[in-house]
Amino acid sequence: MKSYGPQGWWPVTPDGEFTPRYRSGFWGDLSQRERLEIAIGAILTQNTNWGNVCSALERLNRAQVLELEKLSKIKSRTLESLIRSSGYFRQKSRKIKIFAEAVLNRGGSLKNCLSGPLEKTREELLSLWGIGPETADSILLYAGRRPIFVIDAYTLRISRRLGWFRQTSYDKLQKFFESHLPKKSFLYAEFHALFVALAKNHCRVKPLCAGCPIAEFCATGLRAIKA
Ligand code: SF4
Repeated sequence: MKSYGPQGWWPVTPDGEFTPRYRSGFWGDLSQRERLEIAIGAILTQNTNWGNVCSALERLNRAQVLELEKLSKIKSRTLESLIRSSGYFRQKSRKIKIFAEAVLNRGGSLKNCLSGPLEKTREELLSLWGIGPETADSILLYAGRRPIFVIDAYTLRISRRLGWFRQTSYDKLQKFFESHLPKKSFLYAEFHALFVALAKNHCRVKPLCAGCPIAEFCATGLRAIKA
């Protein structure tokens, strides 16, 4: 945190604008539109980088279709062309429509849909086609403000290099973080964002251990510095 500062995840588009922005230090309540943009962003970010997701969200905002009813009714071809920049656009278009329909079938309020008992709500998300653990947990944490730790490829990579695990699963690593940190959604949100920042700035595929802010706690980093 000291090295990278508050990350302000998840970026959302301010009223009257079209592009999502990070909001450092903000962890207040969200509007339905903001929750929906985060959930759609979590689907779009599968297998691509945030820049490509941002372009897709900007096009969705400009087309004024970021509403559940509109997403459920929009022609697949139109939606596909709006989100093309995010890759796998046919699959993602289908996932978005299924997600929008599921929320509408449960009354249409994302806040209500995401605020039930945590395990049951997670199971409901996971039962939707195309929603895996990372996407479900990102939606729960960032759109639902629920205390659930998101695991991604960066978290796995860093945990292995720190020497915490050689082999582990999504669920095991999630339990590990949740049992070692206070159960606070803001803390989990910031922690996950900082892992991403660390992976982008230092703990890359080829790690840049010199200057890494956690090198002194890292098995791989200590070996690299001594070498
Ligand atoms: S010290 Fe090196 S291996 Fe360890 S977390 Fe930092 S960059 Fe990654």
